[in-house]
Amino acid sequence: MASHVNRIAVLAGDGIGPEVMGATMLVAKELEKKHGLQLEWKEGWVGGAAIDAKGKALPDETVELCRSAKAVLFGSVGGPKWENLPPNEQPERAALLPLRKIFGLYANLRPAVLYPELVKCSPLHPDRVAGGFDLLVVRELTGGLYFGQPKETTKTARGERAVDTMVYETHEIERVAEVAFRAASFRKKRVTLADKANVLETSLLWRKVVRGVAARHPAITLDFIYADNAAMQLVRDPGRFDVLLCENLFGDMLSDQAAAVAGSLGMLPSASLGEGSFGLYEPAGGSAPDIAGKGVANPIAQILSLALLCEMSLGQPEAAESIRQAVAGAIREGWRTADLAVAGEKKVGTQEIAKEIARRVALGRGKG
Ligand code: NAD
Repeated sequence: MASHVNRIAVLAGDGIGPEVMGATMLVAKELEKKHGLQLEWKEGWVGGAAIDAKGKALPDETVELCRSAKAVLFGSVGGPKWENLPPNEQPERAALLPLRKIFGLYANLRPAVLYPELVKCSPLHPDRVAGGFDLLVVRELTGGLYFGQPKETTKTARGERAVDTMVYETHEIERVAEVAFRAASFRKKRVTLADKANVLETSLLWRKVVRGVAARHPAITLDFIYADNAAMQLVRDPGRFDVLLCENLFGDMLSDQAAAVAGSLGMLPSASLGEGSFGLYEPAGGSAPDIAGKGVANPIAQILSLALLCEMSLGQPEAAESIRQAVAGAIREGWRTADLAVAGEKKVGTQEIAKEIARRVALGRGKG
């Protein structure tokens, strides 16, 4: 058996998940050969498919599989078939949230990259995104308003009263800020903290703690932006950002907005990280039931999730870079799935584009 440390849990899930995961495995096989990686891929049940086969969205055996793995390559979960289940049993809530909790995945990394050749896929005017952009949203994932106590609805004399609480402690801010600064050190060396320091106590603490982390990273520039202004700047000039660091709620919104201006959800990977090198890697989009089973989904988000996995959980930046080069090369040479093609451009299917990317990985070059 291959070494325990190199086991990857593969959880394809629902909708387009199995299609884009299958396509990604074509790239993975070439990557293993090219870079001499010794990986053991182990499939597990998750999401609606797991509800159907095993009675729950995150079976215990899947949790055990993830525990035994170096990283999880996750597809997507959910779909109309399971929408009428009670909210707590629905695939996304009953699979992804517990996985994040069990593995303490507190940092969510969402790169939003617009390739110069795909500028016309962005909803923004080409003048605003000429040349494309490459930014990274780092979102705190396990704290803030979504988890803070009290969180309750009570009856009052005049109706009802609902409370959510935004709480952050120093260590929660410090660890995710470290992730952001480390990421920036491999990029354009700039971290921007999006907050509401004009109105929120938690934002004042974020600024204080993040300044402290910045002091340990003198090569990285730190600046601040109010979250509402960040939303505006993302549509005015997304190229001005390098790493955008956010607490949970602002990160939820700003990472989706960054994804929207980058064109297609089919291009965007994500990583959720905790302590150590373990991580969960998945496309930014969902299970896309509208196109599932048709062989037209864009597998690039899943393929680039594998690149993030190589970099962050396996310590294989060269393998990651060879995937990114292969993707960029295929895009440059005009390979387009339906979500990327504009009038007159030839469309290719999920398998076709993945085979082209795999071929380029095998050749070891973006061009070709
Ligand atoms: P979605 O991301 O699945 O789809 C939104 C749009 O983007 C659709 O038109 C879809 O066709 C398109 N799209 C997404 N990925 C694509 C790809 N790889 N290639 C081409 N087009 C792509 O979001 P939704 O429609 O709001 O949700 C559908 C289901 O997915 C729901 O059940 C939801 O709960 C689930 N979901 C799961 C995750 C997850 O597993 N992490 C995340 C979001 C939504």
